[in-house]
Amino acid sequence: MELIDNLKNVEENIAKACEKAGRNRDEITLIAVSKTKPVEMLQTIYDQNIRDFGENKVQEMCDKIEVLPDDIRWHMIGHLQTNKVKYIVGKTALIHSVDSLHLAKEIEKQAAKKDVTVSILVEVNIAEEESKFGIRKEETMELIRQIAELPHLHIEGLMTIAPFVENPEDNREYFRQIRQLSVDIKAQNIDNVSMDILSMGMTGDYMVAIEEGATMVRVGTGIFGERNYNI
Ligand SMILES: *Cc1c(COP(=O)(O)O)cnc(C)c1O
Repeated sequence: MELIDNLKNVEENIAKACEKAGRNRDEITLIAVSKTKPVEMLQTIYDQNIRDFGENKVQEMCDKIEVLPDDIRWHMIGHLQTNKVKYIVGKTALIHSVDSLHLAKEIEKQAAKKDVTVSILVEVNIAEEESKFGIRKEETMELIRQIAELPHLHIEGLMTIAPFVENPEDNREYFRQIRQLSVDIKAQNIDNVSMDILSMGMTGDYMVAIEEGATMVRVGTGIFGERNYNI
């Protein structure tokens, strides 16, 4: 079956990148990015022992959570509007896309109400692309210090969406920069901040990202095929 072959292919590539970088496969979590895809396809991948799925829309994620198995770890990887936060707090394993204090405070408010702790990543716009969300590299440390004060949030690391490039080597330098930034932040030993997760690398560049230290790769097209947004 095509989906299963795709997944095998991705797993082989991850293994190759790990070997090249001298890393263990278990240091890396593969997130199957299932946005726009029907639950039947997610179930097929779930049956291959994948438990981490990424979605970028709140409504779509909530609908899928309703019908798919309870042991899935759901990753919110898309830009999050504050008025939608209440629908996902308590349901996500990790929110990858926190890029403002305003958003963090809303997550704090909803988490306090539900008496849960929410794990988050801070999204960095490493290439400073106009079209992308995320905070600038230079502002990241300050934002992290502010978010660290919020008792119901736990900052686990950084996330970035690298530029769309033909040649993944073109993103290597960005991955290095993010990795260095996370090392620098970790060295500050801020309470409530761990920096153990680096979420970087998508279908076009996850092998390079792994070589440069990614601990989570977010692969959509490589597993599920092209997305059609017109349906
Ligand atoms: C869609 C998406 C992905 C997956 O992209 P592919 O190129 O299909 O692998 C990864 N991360 C984020 C934040 C996304 O929105």
